[in-house]
Amino acid sequence: KPTIVLFRHDLRLRDNGALAEAARLDKPVIPAFVFDDGEGDLRPRGAASRWWLHQSLKELEKALDGLAGKLIIRRGELSKVVSELVAESGADAVTWNRRYDPNGATADRRMEKALRANGIRTRDFDGHLLHEPSQLATKSGSFYKVFKPFWNALSSGPEHRDPIDVPKSLRAYSGEVWTEPVDEVLPLPKPDWASGLREAWTPGEEGAIAALKEFVAENLRGYAEGRDFPARLTSRLSPHLAHGEITPFTIFAAIAKNRTSNSSDAAKFRQEVGWREFCYHLLSHNPDLAQQNFQRAFDHFPWLTNKRALHAWQRGATGYPIVDAGMRELWQTGTMHNRVRMIAASFLTKHLLIDWREGERWFWDTLVDADQASNPGNWQWVAGSGADAAPYFRIFNPVLQGEKFDLKGEYVRTYVPELAALPDRFIHQPWEASSGVLEKAGVILGENYPAPIVDHATARARALAAYQSVKADV
Ligand code: FAD
Repeated sequence: KPTIVLFRHDLRLRDNGALAEAARLDKPVIPAFVFDDGEGDLRPRGAASRWWLHQSLKELEKALDGLAGKLIIRRGELSKVVSELVAESGADAVTWNRRYDPNGATADRRMEKALRANGIRTRDFDGHLLHEPSQLATKSGSFYKVFKPFWNALSSGPEHRDPIDVPKSLRAYSGEVWTEPVDEVLPLPKPDWASGLREAWTPGEEGAIAALKEFVAENLRGYAEGRDFPARLTSRLSPHLAHGEITPFTIFAAIAKNRTSNSSDAAKFRQEVGWREFCYHLLSHNPDLAQQNFQRAFDHFPWLTNKRALHAWQRGATGYPIVDAGMRELWQTGTMHNRVRMIAASFLTKHLLIDWREGERWFWDTLVDADQASNPGNWQWVAGSGADAAPYFRIFNPVLQGEKFDLKGEYVRTYVPELAALPDRFIHQPWEASSGVLEKAGVILGENYPAPIVDHATARARALAAYQSVKADV
């Protein structure tokens, strides 16, 4: 009788407990992917993430072909689809790797109950996270709301386990079960808007491993200081982690083997991965992290509705070059440098006073690494409504941020080419340039590049007043 191995946010062969368990059981294997997005309470993936998933599934199909046979792809409500597959194939065991978003976890428990009621053996495994959010607690027994003690507890806890090897061999299932092609379950976008994504990324497990190797060899050194400069490379592992093409255990093991493993660069990098853990910790204890203010005092925050400003922000037309560069990088490549995400998110919530949920939704749709925990966790952090959030009075000045982290304007020139010929000192504030300088650089403010949609000083004062109104309750 075969074992069904489910793939979801874990599109990999390495460090895959569910797959290793199937090898241990030494029975024919049916690898299966159930597209249950949007079923029940599950949040449907955004467009960029669906594009990634399409590519990643194709890579997984190829990888499995040589090892465990055909990947069975179906869509629908998880418990129902898996029960049908069990009935058709006569499988007597189902294995999977745990999901940590509360709705996904609930769907998994429902499936587990239904399977067990029918005498099917089930086992689930870790891998997506270094920690089990339900098991890491403060001294008073509650969940962590502040990063530092959370990270101290997690990093001083038991050694992380080693990654699990890819099974040497698996027995492919020889019976017939129907499957749907990836192209039908997740059609590629039409018209094709994904050329920038194709150029920027190699989805799939091999792409993930290559990104890890490149990072460890070339960009880990200097990470602690360099990670804030958008023209420099960080690991670019986030979409691979989001789709489970690699696990934090595999990443940490690679860092540990490197001779810089004791450096401040390695420590900082591990800590950033720790923020991902923290976001999941928060989500797991606050299922509505993407919908509700973590600090309920923000329920009374005087957000503004301003469709024109929101649109300008989404399209990278705010007139602030560093914000616009970020929003265009996002649109073209499906990602945005972390520092610029903070600047762009601060601009939306503080300069424009637009609700963080609008920004979270836009990022959800356009990021290839759109993540149920990290996206709302970071949005709330920037807005000030989150756990351990940035203080309300921290309102990034987009000009100073640009000058500090993109001094020569390399990043802005890449994504806002209409400003490329401006001298360095005006690249972050073209409105300060004389008409002669602008003319020479071919910039016509208000025509080929927008004038700022808000004045910084006015917007700052307005934001402080708005934040003051909830501060008393925070
Ligand atoms: P590196 O600097 O190489 O970091 C290594 C890994 O650590 C990342 O791959 C990521 O998994 C994790 N990490 C780093 N910083 C953070 C952080 N602040 N929060 C959580 N995890 C972190 N990250 C996502 O993966 N998905 C999202 O949807 C997402 N939305 C964000 C929204 C906003 C408003 C902000 C400010 C940040 C968001 N981030 C999100 C976090 C961060 O910007 C990205 O993880 C990072 O830019 C990815 O690049 P990298 O893999 O090269 O990161």
